[in-house]
Amino acid sequence: MDLVLNVADYYVFTPYVYPASWPEDGALRQIISLLVVTNLGAAVLYLGLGAISYYFIFDHNLMKHPHFLENQVQREIKYALTSLPWISLPTVALFFAEVRGYSKLYDNVDESPLGWPGLFLSMISFLFFTDMCIYWIHRFLHHKLIYKSFHKPHHIWKIPTPFASHAFHPVDGFLQGLPYHIYPFFFPLHKVLYLVLYVFVNIWTISIHDGDYRVPSSLTAVVNGSAHHTDHHLFFDYNYGQYFTLWDRLGGSYRHPSALMGNGPHDLIRKLQAEGKLRSDRVKGQGNGHVQKEVTCKEE
Ligand SMILES: [Zn+2]
Ligand SMILES: [Zn+2]
Repeated sequence: MDLVLNVADYYVFTPYVYPASWPEDGALRQIISLLVVTNLGAAVLYLGLGAISYYFIFDHNLMKHPHFLENQVQREIKYALTSLPWISLPTVALFFAEVRGYSKLYDNVDESPLGWPGLFLSMISFLFFTDMCIYWIHRFLHHKLIYKSFHKPHHIWKIPTPFASHAFHPVDGFLQGLPYHIYPFFFPLHKVLYLVLYVFVNIWTISIHDGDYRVPSSLTAVVNGSAHHTDHHLFFDYNYGQYFTLWDRLGGSYRHPSALMGNGPHDLIRKLQAEGKLRSDRVKGQGNGHVQKEVTCKEE
């Protein structure tokens, strides 16, 4: 985050915002700047990437699904944007520790323990470490004593849109983001690579909510895509993973996506339409409140 902070200081904060007497490395100034940068950055990433995914990738036909809620898109965005500032508070504490030099982040490839191959290895280890941690944190959030208080809000959206990707209770959002933030305190990582990975995980989180269920068939068994995660939203106890199916397979929670077996949300919509049980004149972005008895998804 010090790279981002330096750019913000150079172009905006130092010339236009803070008095010249306030040094750039003042602790309070750094915390305030980190709060501003973190909130703005998260909102821009979420809304920008979410909108691209919503308009260009998300299949709007899914809004006809009986489990698609009234004004769902607006509700997802409102919930996410309300939670983000709360999530940013403990996150900024970690960013501050990082900026003050307590992490193992480094600036130059020369400082990598293994040179360029080290960068590649840290990319792989970042993905595996965060995938493993998120799996167990996510399973913990499904524990019956925890679920209702913190994780249920993310499961209101049974047919998620890309905007559901960051629509979490603040505690849930912080805990599931924690692996990304603690990784550089345990393992060496190049600062630029960290920023690239940070943007990548945001894109990935949006992509598993984008309703595009296609996965190259050779990767279906290995990669946890939108089809897998949609089954998590529909059936709860399966596919807790983030990027890979590895931990779901090891943890006995893997479920082959219903959308890839001719039994997914699109198949239900087609079936209901064929039976004349679905209104086709739905207002964009709005549910029609049309409840179908045939819908088979576990309620919690
Ligand atoms: Zn869940
Ligand atoms: Zn989700």
